[in-house]
Amino acid sequence: MLIFGLRIDFIAMPLDQHGRTINYLRVSLTDACNLRCVYCMPEQMAFRPGTALLRDDELLMLIGFFAELGFEKIRFTGGEPTLRRNLVELVRATAATPGIKSVGLTTNGILLDYLARPLRDAGLDRVNVSLDTLDEARFRQITRWGNLRDVLAGIEAAERAGLRVKINAVPVRGYNNNGDVADLARLTLDRKWQVRFIEMMPLGGIAQFQQTNVITETEIRQHIENTLGPLVPENDGQLDGEARLYRLPKAKGTVGFISSVSHPFCAGCNRMRLMADGILRLCLLRENEVDLRKPVRAGWTADRLKKLIRESVHQKPWGHGLAENKIATNRAMSEIGG
Ligand code: SAM
Ligand code: SF4
Repeated sequence: MLIFGLRIDFIAMPLDQHGRTINYLRVSLTDACNLRCVYCMPEQMAFRPGTALLRDDELLMLIGFFAELGFEKIRFTGGEPTLRRNLVELVRATAATPGIKSVGLTTNGILLDYLARPLRDAGLDRVNVSLDTLDEARFRQITRWGNLRDVLAGIEAAERAGLRVKINAVPVRGYNNNGDVADLARLTLDRKWQVRFIEMMPLGGIAQFQQTNVITETEIRQHIENTLGPLVPENDGQLDGEARLYRLPKAKGTVGFISSVSHPFCAGCNRMRLMADGILRLCLLRENEVDLRKPVRAGWTADRLKKLIRESVHQKPWGHGLAENKIATNRAMSEIGG
């Protein structure tokens, strides 16, 4: 449609078929990882060859199109995004893209000690670091390969660099216990961090393990309150992104719960996910996908690509089907990026 000579279908905020504003793009930069977390992937995971992934120029072109369509917030994820060559340059170019207001990164933190400062200088605003326990031995069991001290050094470096830090923890029955959950929540007493507990979601080939070993928000909250006192709701109980926030008595930071399994937040979903192989995932926990890489490599015009993106946004499904035991099995979490 033309108004005052402007194509308003390309400048209005993108809405999906359910009337939700969709303006947040998570971009997975690689499906590969330097850890093998039990809740995310099997230990013998095969990764895609580099040629199957979007090149930097293809990725930046697509990010530019999303920005033109009204997307304002980008979060890089993976696999492990710090393994992507040129990550700092990708962040710099994305932060400089007209329309993009915020660039974040979700990482396991292993390489953050070296990267936090250059990333901050390149325009990164915020970093979410995965940390499931403060116990070295259990950290190794959960991640299979990791060293806790690398992650702690990464978090300290992120703070020093002036990045806004959030901690993501996934409680898994038999791996991290009540004490681990309380220890992580205790960090918020002295630090202005948001420590978020994510209910383990079933996805891909390890869905049975994930369903059997999930620990629900109710249980996690009980452990925290029994040890550290009452969790008082923040923001009148409103969601902050996908997390419901609480504060422990006299705490500087907050404790959040991301409970897609027991308390789905699909009604407020505002995101799409572009995976490293150039496929757009319409809902984290549904198999609906649209291939953008093939059209990019076939030389589609910018207008045609933007139309495809807009139509894909429109088709976003209402929400997941976990309550009906509908589980997406075509991808592991590490391929999508969370
Ligand atoms: N490698 C980075 C990391 O671990 O932060 C980014 C990718 S990881 C797939 C993104 C987020 O998904 C992490 O916070 C991780 O804890 C979370 N995650 C992985 N598997 C999950 C699952 N089955 N259920 C819920 N969250 C999961
Ligand atoms: Fe790697 Fe992140 Fe998955 Fe752990 S959660 S295996 S760090 S992608």
